[in-house]
Amino acid sequence: MYTATAEKMTDTFNKKDSTNSGLKNKSSNANDEEKDELCPGFKDVDAFVKYGLGAVLSATKASAGLPQAGDEFDFYRSFPGFQDFCEGQGDKLLHCMSQIMKHHGCRSHTRDQNKLTGLEERYDLVVDSNDVILERAGILLDEADGVNRSQQPVMPAGFQPPKIVVSSWNRKGSGSGSRSETFRLMHAKNITRPQLKFKEKIDNSNTPFVPKIFTKPHAMKPLPSYFTSQQNRKDDQSVPSALADLIHQQRTQQHVEDMFAHPYQYELDHLMIPESLLSKPEPQMYKPLAETTCSFIDTLEDLVALNEKLCTSSEFAVDLEHHSYRSFLGLTCLMQISTREEDFIIDTLELRSELYILNEAFTDPSIVKVFHGADSDMEWLQRDFGLYVVKLFDTHQASRALNLARHSLDHLLKHFCSVDSDKRFQLADWRIRPLPEEMIQYARSDTHYLLYIYDCMRAQLLDFNYGQPGLLQSVWNRSRDISLKKYMKPIFTDESYLELQRKQKKSFNTQQLTAFRLLFAWRDKLARQEDESTGYVLPTHMMIKISEELPKEPQGIIACCNPVPPVVRQQINELHLLVQQAREVPLLKAELAAQKQKGLTPIKKPEVTLFGPHDTSRVSESDLPPFTPQELPLKQGVLFSEDEDRKDSDEKISGLVAHAKITLFEELETKTDEESLPVAHMKARRINESFENPFRMYLPTTDVHINKNAKFDPSSKIFEISKRWKLQSIEQQQAELEAKRKAKTAAKQQAKKATEESNKAKQSYQESLQNVATVRQLAADSKGGGKKREREQSETGESTPKPSKKLMKSSEKPQKDKPSPQESFTPFDYSQSDLKVFTEVKTKDNTHFDPNRQAHSTKRQKTPKGQKSNFGAATRSMSYLTGKSDR
Ligand code: AMP
Ligand code: MN
Ligand code: ZN
Repeated sequence: MYTATAEKMTDTFNKKDSTNSGLKNKSSNANDEEKDELCPGFKDVDAFVKYGLGAVLSATKASAGLPQAGDEFDFYRSFPGFQDFCEGQGDKLLHCMSQIMKHHGCRSHTRDQNKLTGLEERYDLVVDSNDVILERAGILLDEADGVNRSQQPVMPAGFQPPKIVVSSWNRKGSGSGSRSETFRLMHAKNITRPQLKFKEKIDNSNTPFVPKIFTKPHAMKPLPSYFTSQQNRKDDQSVPSALADLIHQQRTQQHVEDMFAHPYQYELDHLMIPESLLSKPEPQMYKPLAETTCSFIDTLEDLVALNEKLCTSSEFAVDLEHHSYRSFLGLTCLMQISTREEDFIIDTLELRSELYILNEAFTDPSIVKVFHGADSDMEWLQRDFGLYVVKLFDTHQASRALNLARHSLDHLLKHFCSVDSDKRFQLADWRIRPLPEEMIQYARSDTHYLLYIYDCMRAQLLDFNYGQPGLLQSVWNRSRDISLKKYMKPIFTDESYLELQRKQKKSFNTQQLTAFRLLFAWRDKLARQEDESTGYVLPTHMMIKISEELPKEPQGIIACCNPVPPVVRQQINELHLLVQQAREVPLLKAELAAQKQKGLTPIKKPEVTLFGPHDTSRVSESDLPPFTPQELPLKQGVLFSEDEDRKDSDEKISGLVAHAKITLFEELETKTDEESLPVAHMKARRINESFENPFRMYLPTTDVHINKNAKFDPSSKIFEISKRWKLQSIEQQQAELEAKRKAKTAAKQQAKKATEESNKAKQSYQESLQNVATVRQLAADSKGGGKKREREQSETGESTPKPSKKLMKSSEKPQKDKPSPQESFTPFDYSQSDLKVFTEVKTKDNTHFDPNRQAHSTKRQKTPKGQKSNFGAATRSMSYLTGKSDR
């Protein structure tokens, strides 16, 4: 929710700022005619906004003060008074939201829903309403600004828009040729893209960032030759991207260390803080704003003069303003510098390619550079200008060391300077030129007082530590660590989407996850190509909505987006294809659930009919996608990823995501594990169906307050429930996969491979024996307690037979484990599989006994391990619940 809202907020902010003049006019009009109150009690927009922001701020603070979800909350909740209060307030809030939504004509039945099942839906309602409201605000602001957005084409249902080629202005040469008939500069509204004026092309390629530095002032260790060679730099800019990547790779091999090292690592490692900076200073009062000159610097000449000034100073304060919505990597739009005497505002969009000259002052170890919260600034300086900082003092770190109540700059300003700052412009669109006076004043105040604060804080750090420099030294050290930060470009990998998906805490079936993956990749590609943020190309919440709904029609995709991002509108056909592609992926999990709801048998019966111990048909069953034990819990990995070790869950998830066919033919070791699957599956399903989890309906929702400890306590109901439904879900996944696979492959391959059958008869027989045993085991287990039964069931489902046992017990199979007629289980005839597809598998002969394989599978099936992983799953499930309720 935060992400989505933040995106929206930025969006509106941008809109608001981009239409700044409109707003200003409005408010000044209101000022002129006092009688014309905006709304009761507020004379103009500013007053209203100020009041509104104040209210939001105090609400946010208050909500942060509430007991934390989890133990603390559960404890409080055990008091009826608290519970009543929460419920009362909750109702009030919902009522209020509902009123707002109604006022804006949105669906709003947020109140009268089942508390347990309604959260997801209510959340969606809120997101939708947010979209509608913000969209409306945007339109109104546009209108105030004289832009009529309603003239945008509205696509009628089924209308296929002409294919518009989005101008790839950032790639010289590419995109030209046959498909370059229609060009349209994207979203060229009000603000021209500063990128257009950049001398140096922005490199959004999916390659690691290489420092921009090519001269190194104040070097104790010379800059590696790689950087000093201007030729290299030119090459990188003129060569087509594909070739650039290749060159890049080659160079990477030669210069790995140089390229990715911090150019000033050595200097920073050897940086000494002189005695004078570790002893107590007399704070030097800042000059009043009114008496301080403020220069706006947008020419090289002025910049050079500034650099000279800075080089003669002993300290100066620096801050940056940044824009990230209409750029892939982000743009540093402004640099503010304050000396003791003067303020400077540098137009870093204009002087982007020249700013490196400031390295002379920035890396001079005899000059202190004071920043507040420099973490991002260090990265932005490197990324956009190749600037580095040697001898940084970060007042944010000082604030932390002093244990101040809050560490924000406005707090420091209030605390040390009694200045009330207004951070309203922090998220403004800093690309605006010419900069409105208010924004210049705001920017200026970010550095104007900083040197005085730096003095005060150093003095306090020493006082705090009884005059000993230890604490102050530690702030210097921390600051140095921050200046050692290296900018890392966002790199797209095949797994990138999982990280985002995990953050969203959405449970996706395979199709949805595929859609999410494809959309994520599309979004990344487009964002790099068009140099837009991913949030601009397709906000995450829309991407999730499309993935969840998998619209059949392009129009449905449009309907998931409100407002429709321009790039989505332009590329709707492409997106539609991606969604279609995702829909073709075998569906795990959701389909079964749906069928069950309708009271249908969840298994689609394949046309194949034979089954028996001598049946040769299951010969190539090992060709099934290996649902290894590692893979199986991976659906859970997706769902309950929160507590999970990242790497771990990544593996799991990718196992799930991977199309069955792919994993299948790679890992031969796991193949034999599959041999007993179908019968086991059948059995598992039958057992499973016999006790449908009564809590199922509640599972995807999060509005349940559970004591954190409960999930670790095997005796608790929660533990049991969570484990049970988890296991069930595993069964369902398997069963569904199985059913799907059968239906698909059977139909396709019926006519083939009769000859293969005889070759594999022997193996088939062995397999059936094994299956028999597995099922028998299962049946035996199923008579035990529910919990145990399920666990075993799931493990069998995880397809890790114990060959030796199976053989022993095979004789018992007919009585106990043959599927009963009414269940009419029809195993898939794998003899008819398209074995050409599986050639690789075939060569590794599965019919042969492989002791290693057996050992492997036996080990895997060990109960304790299963228990453990199930326990882990339960843990995840609970944290998922509580985590989500945080929203
Ligand atoms: P500041 O150091 O406070 O002047 O912030 C520098 C830049 O960081 C701003 O221009 C914004 O682009 C960005 N920024 C600061 N605070 C936030 C925030 N809360 N959310 C998003 N971006 C922020
Ligand atoms: Mn800053
Ligand atoms: Zn700032």
